[in-house]
Amino acid sequence: MISENMRQIREKIAEAADKSGRAASDITLIGVTKTVPADTIRQLISAGITHIGENKVQEFLPKYVELTAEAPNWHFIGHLQKNKVKHLVGKISLIHSIDSLGLAQEINKRLEQQNMTQDVLIEINIAKEPTKYGILPEAANEFSKHIFALSNMRLRGLMCVAPFVENGEKNRALFAKMRELAKKIFLEKVLTNLQDLPYTPFPFELSMGMSGDYTAAIEEGATMVRIGTALVGERP
Ligand SMILES: *Cc1c(COP(=O)(O)O)cnc(C)c1O
Repeated sequence: MISENMRQIREKIAEAADKSGRAASDITLIGVTKTVPADTIRQLISAGITHIGENKVQEFLPKYVELTAEAPNWHFIGHLQKNKVKHLVGKISLIHSIDSLGLAQEINKRLEQQNMTQDVLIEINIAKEPTKYGILPEAANEFSKHIFALSNMRLRGLMCVAPFVENGEKNRALFAKMRELAKKIFLEKVLTNLQDLPYTPFPFELSMGMSGDYTAAIEEGATMVRIGTALVGERP
């Protein structure tokens, strides 16, 4: 089942990438495996998935240990509490969910102590939903300046969890808004004061699009899609 799902998803990714003038290889497919056992993650890895996303620290840690040999690129995509940060530092390729300055500062403090750096994305509450985490779009540019200033963080792009919709087209305008926001933040940084940064934050990543709306997201510029249900089936 997984290999057939994967084939269909890869095909749709390639088609959507083509529509936006890119290649399928420009899009990172992240298999979202919350509530899914480690054995299923192994199947995904055998089928060629190299990026795995988890949203809870307590669920991620045992899987991380169990899959030491497979060593996928782990993505943390859920809301992160400050008191759990210490468990993640050094284990995650990309944290997608920087949603407060306090959290970012806590991560940076741990990184400094361990003399490490961490790639991160800022989570944007693009539809301004009261039930969702993330920085409001109008505050994103100012917020990004604080994150760029943190010594051991590498701000790589933006992420959003768009509203749940039956028809992914309904989120298209929100994805376009994300792209414009990212362009403003990252192009401005590159054009104006790149010299303050010890790394190049460009090209930026746009982590957007899930099972119901990933083709619209890619057509609007997503560089990473986070797919659970369409890959491994409905969660219990
Ligand atoms: C669960 C989840 C996904 C995947 O959602 P599906 O609709 O199952 O593809 C993507 N991103 C985040 C942040 C999630 O929590």
